[in-house]
Amino acid sequence: MTELDSILDRLKAKGERVTIQRRIVIESLCKDNAHLTVNDIQRYLQHEFPEQPLSDTTVYRILQWLKDLEFVSQTDMGTMGTVYQLLQHRHHHLICLTCGAEIEMDDDCLVELRQLIHDKYGFKVRLDHLALYGQCHDCL
Ligand SMILES: [Zn+2]
Ligand SMILES: [Zn+2]
Repeated sequence: MTELDSILDRLKAKGERVTIQRRIVIESLCKDNAHLTVNDIQRYLQHEFPEQPLSDTTVYRILQWLKDLEFVSQTDMGTMGTVYQLLQHRHHHLICLTCGAEIEMDDDCLVELRQLIHDKYGFKVRLDHLALYGQCHDCL
């Protein structure tokens, strides 16, 4: 089963309606499991589905729907802008402010933090996909 099929199945299992518009936005996010801006998504849609143009508003609305369902995360990645990605492979980024190096961080690091926040504040925090800034090993 492809990633796209598994996502569509999970959405249908939740009773969500998957329209053609929703499907093609999900399909664009499945490409290379990428981090995409709304412009990237629009470029993909224009290329793959020229007969099915979507307005930016429609794309935002679909992304919001996927975010609410915890299928997609939204992250401000500084110079890259706001990016969207599927939450299938949960990970985070450490970005060096000095040399710009980018290190992928496992989600394990945040398991305890989520629990701590929940215990202390009774708050279920969503740390879907973080970009944390600082200094890398080499620059230190
Ligand atoms: Zn990422
Ligand atoms: Zn560095």
